[in-house]
Amino acid sequence: MDTRRSQDLFARAQRLMPGGVNSPVRAFKSVGGEPFFVKRANGAYLEDVDGNRYIDYVGSWGPMIVGHNHPDVLAAVIETAQNGLSFGTPNPLEVTMAETIARLVPSCEMVRMVNSGTEATLSAIRLARGATGRARIVKFEGCYHGHGDSFLVKAGSGALTFGVPTSPGVPKALADLTLTLPYNDFDAATALFDEAGDDIAGLIIEPVVGNANCLPPRDGYLQHLRALCTQHGALLIFDEVMTGFRVALGGAQQRYGVTPDLSTFGKIIGGGMPVGAYGGRAELMQQIAPAGPIYQAGTLSGNPVAMAAGLKMLDLIQAPGFHDALEAKTHALCDGLEAAARDAGVPFTTQRVGAMFGLFFSTEKVDTYAQAIACDTAAFNRFFHAMLERGVYLAPSAFEAGFMSSAHDDAAIAATLDAARAAFKTL
Ligand code: PMP
Repeated sequence: MDTRRSQDLFARAQRLMPGGVNSPVRAFKSVGGEPFFVKRANGAYLEDVDGNRYIDYVGSWGPMIVGHNHPDVLAAVIETAQNGLSFGTPNPLEVTMAETIARLVPSCEMVRMVNSGTEATLSAIRLARGATGRARIVKFEGCYHGHGDSFLVKAGSGALTFGVPTSPGVPKALADLTLTLPYNDFDAATALFDEAGDDIAGLIIEPVVGNANCLPPRDGYLQHLRALCTQHGALLIFDEVMTGFRVALGGAQQRYGVTPDLSTFGKIIGGGMPVGAYGGRAELMQQIAPAGPIYQAGTLSGNPVAMAAGLKMLDLIQAPGFHDALEAKTHALCDGLEAAARDAGVPFTTQRVGAMFGLFFSTEKVDTYAQAIACDTAAFNRFFHAMLERGVYLAPSAFEAGFMSSAHDDAAIAATLDAARAAFKTL
């Protein structure tokens, strides 16, 4: 595979951009090797600057649920852009967007648009703190909520250990306010709330973890967290940046039947344009400026072009049977990968929830962070490169979920499984 143009671009990029990228995981640090630079994308495929084509299971990290460069989304963007790119005033499309989100996700009685998932989560936490008058927040090991200071905290040992900043630049005083829990551990959550529940402003969780591979909640786990938050007056925040509109039309909250107080969304509602949103009960959202005293703002928030792309995408995924079809494809892919691994004698298993999936080089089913990090990441890295060489692009880290789109047809999935049968044999 010729990658000379990508190599040249990466060399130039590294001189001027930290690590040669604008977001760390793109640099392939986790899997080794060098990233490819993409020139164009269409349907289920990426094409790099050297002309190589890849079947893409990253989908721009989630938003491309109807495939890349969908003609209807593109047409909506072009039509809207012809009227101007940004007004800095209210525009009609943001009202339609708020109405659409509120209709599809009923817990979001009111919505505020922002420009990224990071902005959505840090705004939601500010609201939780402002509304409850409490300072502490709870997050889970292995959950990623963007790069806001309060979220860059890893677990200490045990549920009651104060957070330790994972990144220089996060003041310890702030990190101390972030408590961490092991995901899917019922007792640890109960113990933490028994100890500190009345100081907790909010608990934020990826209801299906997509940033530590793909970890579905155990039966009743989200309900358990809901009950603890209600009992202690803490807000339950579902970070649906990955799961929203993907694991079901109404997100994880619909799929698991648990109603959070606040929800955060990201990239998917921009159809590929930079977007985020947070929403929740009206009585909470009314506390956001200018309706209330909790400040949050954004010059480009509600951008008309981004709203047009997102609205068209949300339109397309409301087609009857859309999510069932996506889920069936995800099952076909994961079942096929498991069979290929079995045939090659490679210890391997998958998890799948709707159109999200995880690949684990492990003999046991994985549903905790501790199990996820104990998997054979070296085997994943070899598999990643063996697949890439065969024209299949998986997320470049053993700790990222994969994403299916409606553009992945039977031929793309069959080609992926052909590649996998060969790739597993090389391990
Ligand atoms: N929350 C979750 C669950 C995410 O997966 C991400 C990013 N992948 C974010 C928040 C942050 O979103 P962004 O990168 O748009 O800031």
